[in-house]
Amino acid sequence: MQPSKYRPTRATISLKAIGGNLSQVQAGLPKETEVFAVVKADAYGHGVVPVARYLADKVAGFCVSNLDEALELRQAGIELPILVMGPIWIEGVPVAIAEGISLTITSQEWLEQAIGTGLDLTGMHFHVKVDSGMGRIGFRETAELLSSLEMAQEAGAVFEGIFTHFATADEVDDRLFLTQLERFHQVLQVLPALPRWVHASNSATALWHGEAAFNMVRLGNVLYGLNPSGHSLQLPSGIEPALSLTSELVQVKQLASGAKIGYGATYETADREWIGTVPIGYADGVLRRMQGFSVLVEGELCPIVGRVSMDQITIRLPQSFAIGTKVTLIGTNGRQTLTAQDWADKQDTINYEVLCLLSDRVAREYEK
Ligand SMILES: *Cc1c(COP(=O)(O)O)cnc(C)c1O
Repeated sequence: MQPSKYRPTRATISLKAIGGNLSQVQAGLPKETEVFAVVKADAYGHGVVPVARYLADKVAGFCVSNLDEALELRQAGIELPILVMGPIWIEGVPVAIAEGISLTITSQEWLEQAIGTGLDLTGMHFHVKVDSGMGRIGFRETAELLSSLEMAQEAGAVFEGIFTHFATADEVDDRLFLTQLERFHQVLQVLPALPRWVHASNSATALWHGEAAFNMVRLGNVLYGLNPSGHSLQLPSGIEPALSLTSELVQVKQLASGAKIGYGATYETADREWIGTVPIGYADGVLRRMQGFSVLVEGELCPIVGRVSMDQITIRLPQSFAIGTKVTLIGTNGRQTLTAQDWADKQDTINYEVLCLLSDRVAREYEK
């Protein structure tokens, strides 16, 4: 889908804010720790190519979740190391080798299948994933990990990294976190040799568990200026949201008392009311459950009244405003600010989900 440019709805991404957030987190990390920027899911909705190009001279590499995302970076001319953090379809291995993309080996079964199909793994750079307690992907058994490591290297693959992922690094209770860290240390101790990169930190770990930095961290959420813990733990000062979402009033009308608004006629004006229409809807990522949330016009909160449609929302205005008046959905307008976290609270979800769900229809613009 092409982004819709001939309408006023825009996500504006401050690359400078992303750079500032990176520096801020980097300042708290050990000197030898290198940063890989996590730019999966279109850089959490911020647009992967512009974000990665901007970060290319500021980070050591990029992490993505699948091979297609890695290829998009290579096609955009990104030459830094790229790690695909999840298991890929075996058919993709030759492509990864050709493009110099590092893969993750998460199980012996995957490796046996790859070798069993007669694939040549020569030159396949890989990281090994340790399941230290998240129960998702990775090796649970050390013996299996060690024999897979040997098998992969015998097949010509290059052991480049080992990593794990924490389930609760963003929570106040650190019991499971410490168990996972201990488990990861145990695995490291029995390795014949440590690879180039050892990593365990996502944003939350890098921010709140410095003891797990090792020599590489995988930063996603915090680069975009979000708090990975929601409200539980405090971000260092100076972390700034990178994305704002704005639009404009495209129609404003005064309705008499008792007028119905939108599908299902779920809202009825209580008085003579000014109602404005804004060209953004659930197809853009403003979910239907955002009904009742507010947006900002001239620094004032204006409630979304009536259903969220696919392409439009209707808002109650305190007075008449001209067509073209700015509407802020995420960001600052006058003295008020709305954040992705406010959206998440309204939707009973996490800020990650809110920005990932901003669809391709929303045109992105970049500020340096
Ligand atoms: C997405 C992801 C990250 C980044 O997490 P943030 O909380 O956004 O920093 C790191 N590691 C793995 C394995 C991931 O899947």
